[in-house]
Amino acid sequence: MIRRRIFESEHEMFRTSVGRWADDVLVPHREEWLAAGSVSREAWKSAGENGFLCMWAGEEYGGAGMSDYRFDQILIEEITWREPGFFIHLHNRVIGPYLGKFATAEQKGRFMPGIVSGDTILAIGITEPGAGSDVAGLRCFAEEKVDHWVLNGTKTYISNGLLADLVVVAARTDRDNPYSMGLFLVERGMEGFSRGSGLKKLGLKSQDTAELFFDNVKVPKENVLGDPAKAFKYMMVGLAEERLTGAVSYVARAERAFAITLDYITERKAFGRPIGTFQNSRFKMAEMRTRIDACWAFVDHCTLEHLDGELSAETAAQAKLLTSETEGQVVDDCLQLHGGAGYMDEYEISRLYADARISRIYAGTSEIMKEIIGRNLGLDERRKG
Ligand SMILES: Cc1cc2nc3c(=O)[nH]c(=O)nc-3n(C[C@H](O)[C@H](O)[C@H](O)COP(=O)(O)OP(=O)(O)OC[C@H]3O[C@@H](n4cnc5c(N)ncnc54)[C@H](O)[C@@H]3O)c2cc1C
Repeated sequence: MIRRRIFESEHEMFRTSVGRWADDVLVPHREEWLAAGSVSREAWKSAGENGFLCMWAGEEYGGAGMSDYRFDQILIEEITWREPGFFIHLHNRVIGPYLGKFATAEQKGRFMPGIVSGDTILAIGITEPGAGSDVAGLRCFAEEKVDHWVLNGTKTYISNGLLADLVVVAARTDRDNPYSMGLFLVERGMEGFSRGSGLKKLGLKSQDTAELFFDNVKVPKENVLGDPAKAFKYMMVGLAEERLTGAVSYVARAERAFAITLDYITERKAFGRPIGTFQNSRFKMAEMRTRIDACWAFVDHCTLEHLDGELSAETAAQAKLLTSETEGQVVDDCLQLHGGAGYMDEYEISRLYADARISRIYAGTSEIMKEIIGRNLGLDERRKG
């Protein structure tokens, strides 16, 4: 692995303590959570007690006031392969920041302490049965009344959907303008808010992914985040960090796949010798090592850009595209090097393989990443002719 140059000694100390915590608190429960289709609330509480939730939040809310993204990067790198269903990164660096940036002081006072302690687990509802990549195609609608909004619609594939206590829901607020949207803070127990059972899926089986239903939910005006016509813009603001956050997890899982495969091919023998000594195995491992190192270099560059407030949507899209495609190639090659064992649930590579398939789809598909990157090259379809 290449030498990574963006971390100081305090980051490395933090890495050691997160790794120990994850080994003690997450790893022993993996089988139980896979069967349950969800991690436990206790895991979230423990993360809160150890100060791992929304570390950027101010001390007045129980946070550490630590905005240095590298600490979150380490958290993701250490947790994502130990328990892929524990979406701490979604809570900390995708949804939490919406409150950090757009909530009023009163809203922060009401919600942030629970978000930091792990009592309030977050989810975000953008995708609908009829609209995913095309956010302007949302149907979920919120109608303004005197002191509240009435929310109607369905969201699907929502991560943390069953555990969530607070869901940030994107809904249209003007029937004539698809870009006029609001973000509504829907709380567990609000009348008219219900959830389907957990969705069965190919991988990430300990992640509770669910459908959410809103049937005339009365959302008080105090639960609207920012301007109810500007959510589209707000969502664009957070995308660079969201994609970098995804990218970190994809490389970390590719790294794990590489490590366990190196061990496997060193031990496993065929034709009287370790399979790692065949030229094909050596070449495959060499290719993967090179690709993963290139990903780390690019991700770390993006982190530095982000620390300077300079990470562009296009560069973050490149990071997401590169790392998710690399993860996909790496887990496939690693599974192949495991032979039949790689197809068995009891071997970690089979789970890494299944878990990896979604990385090229959620948080914006590879095709949408290419659109964003291509548009920045001046190759916008609207300029044809
Ligand atoms: C496990 C899981 C967890 C998720 N978690 C969440 C969550 O927490 N919150 C949330 O809101 N959503 C979540 N999602 C939804 C996810 O973000 C969407 O699935 C994703 O954005 C793709 O949308 P879609 O599924 O509607 O696919 P579609 O938009 O229907 O796309 C289908 C195919 O068409 C392609 N395509 C679409 N538009 C174009 C175009 N312009 N050019 C070229 N190709 C195009 C896509 O790339 C894709 O290959 C999750 C999904 C999964 C599976």
